[in-house]
Amino acid sequence: MLIAGINAHICEVCIEQAFDIIQEELYGKKRPAEEGVQGTSGSKQGALPVNVTPKDIKSHLDQYVIGQNEAKKFLSVAVYNHYKRLNQKEKDEVEIEKSNILLVGRTGTGKTLLAKTIAKYLNVPFAIVDATVFTEAGYVGEDVESILSRLLQVCDYDVAAAERGIVYIDEIDKIARKGDNPSITRDVSGEGVQQALLKMLEGTDVNVPPQGGRKHPEQKMVKVNTENILFICGGAFDGIEKTIARRVNTHVIGFNNSGAEGVDRENLLQYISHQDMKSYGLIPELVGRLPVLTFLDPLDQEALKRILVEPRNSLLRQYQKLFALEDIQLHFSEDAIEYIAAKALEFNLGARGLRSICEAIMTDAMFELPSEKGQVREFLVTEAYAREKLRRSKLNHLKAA
Ligand code: ADP
Repeated sequence: MLIAGINAHICEVCIEQAFDIIQEELYGKKRPAEEGVQGTSGSKQGALPVNVTPKDIKSHLDQYVIGQNEAKKFLSVAVYNHYKRLNQKEKDEVEIEKSNILLVGRTGTGKTLLAKTIAKYLNVPFAIVDATVFTEAGYVGEDVESILSRLLQVCDYDVAAAERGIVYIDEIDKIARKGDNPSITRDVSGEGVQQALLKMLEGTDVNVPPQGGRKHPEQKMVKVNTENILFICGGAFDGIEKTIARRVNTHVIGFNNSGAEGVDRENLLQYISHQDMKSYGLIPELVGRLPVLTFLDPLDQEALKRILVEPRNSLLRQYQKLFALEDIQLHFSEDAIEYIAAKALEFNLGARGLRSICEAIMTDAMFELPSEKGQVREFLVTEAYAREKLRRSKLNHLKAA
């Protein structure tokens, strides 16, 4: 395309190049297209990098999170669609709805890690909140609006950035309605909180106390629109397997019992459905606003072993780095790794147990080696060493507890 001037024409390529030069010279910025598509809010944060596909998102997650393929796939697609929806220029009659996500899986299987990794990849403000602190308005505890205060705080009160952020609400199962039988005392941290969350999840203008809480009644409210905020909820939903088992079993009794064959009883979570969430005590309206439902596998010994070694910032790599700073090469023997993973499985804390076990094993070495600077160049952690250190530590009593 040529644009006519007084004496000459200028082509679109030159215009683009000139635009780049001006941007760089005056504002020190690259073109938005190189960083990601700019949002309508004008914020530079919070855009999907160009040409990114759900597969790219998943392979990024693969670098940090071990296993959990199903969850990664669901999450990648949901996030991809979410940001595609944000970048939808003109709104026609086909309006794409929000794809808030619900992750179900035992503690320490990587729910928070998934949410955190994806937020980092997209470079959007990210806040983690715990659903257990919320109570119905008027009771001791926090209002659900404080979720957004947290988000505002992480992006330095840049409302436009916060409006494209991601919020991870942990322990969503703890606000489930307790039983069908309404007791005489009010359920102030259950259904009332779910009701309060509804509007926020769907997308509305919320008046947020910027400093959070109710301690500063004089603070000026900030209006935040939640339409483009992606909510990821996570919970362990203890005992949900029973509900699933009951539902899966009912098919066996009916005429059409072919579907129940080959049911994997070890990991019933994979059959989770929105129906089970309702049975657990989430109100149907809330379940409807979390349309993407996926599960995380319990971690077996093999997965725990991989978590120790494979992620980019895996635990063992972190220790190796710490030792390298002291000029010591740290190695773990294969059987030591196997032993740590086996212990973590025994303690039943998911991957979270790995850290405390490693600390128990490594503390003595980290205490002593720095004072022997220059004398030790290499340090090998064997199974015998690990076993001995763990035997002496307090952790060993954990199993009995
Ligand atoms: P939760 O499911 O309870 O939210 P987290 O995501 O907080 O668990 O996991 C706790 C820690 O365990 C993380 O910081 C991470 O180091 C490790 N971890 C858990 N699951 C995985 C996994 N699948 N891959 C890699 N690391 C994991």
